[in-house]
Amino acid sequence: MLHANTTHNRQQPRTTVRFAPSPNGLLHLGHARSAILNARFAAAHDGRFLLRIEDIDITRARPEYEAAIVKDLDWLGLSWSKPVRRQSDHFADYASALTELRRLGLIYPAFLSRSETQARVRDIESTGRSWPRDPDGAPHYPGDDRNLSDAERMARIADGAPHAWRLDMTAALTGLGVGLTWNEHGAGPEGETGRIAADPAAWGDVLLARRDIPASYHVAVSVDDAIQEITDVIRGQDLFAATSVHRLLQHLLGLPVPRYRHHGLVLDGSGQKLSKSDGATSLASLRDQGLAPVDVIALAGLAPDG
Ligand code: GLU
Repeated sequence: MLHANTTHNRQQPRTTVRFAPSPNGLLHLGHARSAILNARFAAAHDGRFLLRIEDIDITRARPEYEAAIVKDLDWLGLSWSKPVRRQSDHFADYASALTELRRLGLIYPAFLSRSETQARVRDIESTGRSWPRDPDGAPHYPGDDRNLSDAERMARIADGAPHAWRLDMTAALTGLGVGLTWNEHGAGPEGETGRIAADPAAWGDVLLARRDIPASYHVAVSVDDAIQEITDVIRGQDLFAATSVHRLLQHLLGLPVPRYRHHGLVLDGSGQKLSKSDGATSLASLRDQGLAPVDVIALAGLAPDG
């Protein structure tokens, strides 16, 4: 006889969300919107709100920006569960993911530098052929290193040839069977919602580790969302298209799939997305101008409280 508790007794995981800024500039109104939406969602679901510092780009991350993030979030009245996860402390976790993808035969060393990549694409396009761009507008990787033999790869690496690591997208999609999807509870830039068909091929042979940094955003975010048991990813619509890559990595690495809630961006007066390089809407400068958190919440397009 079956015991009652052996059937359909899986507990729902506790709602867990994260705000995941990169400490390479000051937070602006768009970040405030994202952070507050995450914190309010956690509060409404008796869940946990985490802060993750996405500083794998050690060439651009600066400790003073991390300190400024904490100061701005404190000022907004937000609090988060400790410890804070700082990605640069966890390169070993991303290396394990790469090792697994290498074991599956899905990654290859990519030897073209950024300028060689641009030159190669210019050459192709100068012959009148068009060359695909990813959803962020960058050209697909044009190198043919994916066809090198293992012996050639090892010889070049042993020679000290600088190289990044890329996903062999065609190989990764081979034998996938049913297409990958995710549940979108927010909306994409075109209002996409509900069950979304992922389109990782649109990204080409996506970058998994840089020459100088042993991980990429896509790897780190997919691994960390799993390690931190994130149930709901709440972030700006500018990352909607990247979700296709995250879904593929989750599938290949056997990671759980969170729900996604992409939200609209805060735009400037000319309808452009805010950028960290334009200090005008930084939370620090709004505070210095005498604005209160309640003003920032309104400028970020949110109701005064939950
Ligand atoms: N670190 C990313 C950013 O600052 C956010 C990553 C994410 O929420 O998935 O845009």
